[in-house]
Amino acid sequence: MDKVKIGGTTYKVEMVDDLAGSDDCFGYIQYKKSLIQLDNNLEEQMHNKTFIHELTHALFIEAGYNDHEEDMANRIGLVLYQALKDNDFSFIR
Ligand SMILES: [Zn+2]
Repeated sequence: MDKVKIGGTTYKVEMVDDLAGSDDCFGYIQYKKSLIQLDNNLEEQMHNKTFIHELTHALFIEAGYNDHEEDMANRIGLVLYQALKDNDFSFIR
């Protein structure tokens, strides 16, 4: 996915080699640029979980929770990932 629309904003999704030069930085969101960056070296499951985590940050921001905690994005992102992965939401389209 190279872009995702959230709350009327289109976020560009960009793959980056060695994001932030750190093993513990898998993804990053730049709100002012409407940009989600993901490390290019993640295996598929970790890539998808990281994308949903960054998407969760965007959901909070677009909902007006500009000062949400990282822990909130972690918790909501994990259950959102599970719900999206384990259910068929094609009926919504
Ligand atoms: Zn985060």
